[in-house]
Amino acid sequence: MSDQEISLTGGPIPVKGPKGDKEHPINEMNAHVADLTAATDSSSPEEFLRKLLSTPDEQLIPWEECVLPSRGIYYGWPDGTIFVRAMGQAAEKVLATQRLAQSGQSIDYLFRECVRFPAGFQPEDLLIGDRVFLLYFLRGITHGNMYEFAVTCGNEECGKTSTHSYDLNELAGTIQWADPSLGVEPFRVDLPYLSKATGKEVYVSIRMLRGGDVNDILNRRKTRKKMFARPGGIKTRGRNPFENRQSDSQAVDDSLSENLEKLIVNVMGVSDPLMMRQFISKMHAQDTATVREWLKDHTPGIDTTITVTCPECSNEFTIELPITEGFFRPTKSGRTG
Ligand SMILES: [Zn+2]
Repeated sequence: MSDQEISLTGGPIPVKGPKGDKEHPINEMNAHVADLTAATDSSSPEEFLRKLLSTPDEQLIPWEECVLPSRGIYYGWPDGTIFVRAMGQAAEKVLATQRLAQSGQSIDYLFRECVRFPAGFQPEDLLIGDRVFLLYFLRGITHGNMYEFAVTCGNEECGKTSTHSYDLNELAGTIQWADPSLGVEPFRVDLPYLSKATGKEVYVSIRMLRGGDVNDILNRRKTRKKMFARPGGIKTRGRNPFENRQSDSQAVDDSLSENLEKLIVNVMGVSDPLMMRQFISKMHAQDTATVREWLKDHTPGIDTTITVTCPECSNEFTIELPITEGFFRPTKSGRTG
């Protein structure tokens, strides 16, 4: 569990470079196979097994380089390069642990097993965009770039569920990279409504949401839901440990005050918590929309919005690439649609 403490310098030999090349473009989400032919060359099965078992883990499942959309700017790193490796048994155990899934922390634990961050960095501190990117990257290098998932048609009269297939490598083309010219957090966002109303430059200073923020928000919502749910009326969670992760983008996108309270670090330089909370509760929708738009335009990450066509009724609709059970547990069984 201490993998994230390992320094990036002098580490493993990556199978592909961050700059990318013709054979392996940047952030390619394909599954690679380690070459163990020389390390396991033997005449008998026993000898083969002995050699295999004495092969270092890093050769069995090699580390691969990728570049985070944030380029590491908001973490104080020289660049956004980190090492990721395909999931092994330890990661599978994380997925199987219901307790982790329920606390919304399974991603952090998964990253602890499969990602090498610079020394001292905690996965909870990843920007949401980086986190989502990493999740897809991890899936891609573990199970391959083709992802099959089921979607229910958006046309109410149809409502048929069909299976679709998506090439995760297309996500690499949607990366919104961090803009270094923005500088570091916090960022000033002027509020149009209040500025006009008061004749003063009214602004808030904001930061970008981290994985830890989303965990907090989701857990708080869940607690609230439980408080209002009747005993026995609580829906048991499905088998998908990432069920609640689909709310990540919603958590960034909506303008609820619980999110704004995390985003806004001061109001015109004033950081008194009580005054800030009161200020946020009185914000005009024009002003919260401005904050939301600013974040949307400047938050590094990937665009997981996809268009699917229903094979039954030819209805075309746009959805967020869903994280279904098959995300980390793909089946080779045939299509259902
Ligand atoms: Zn349909």
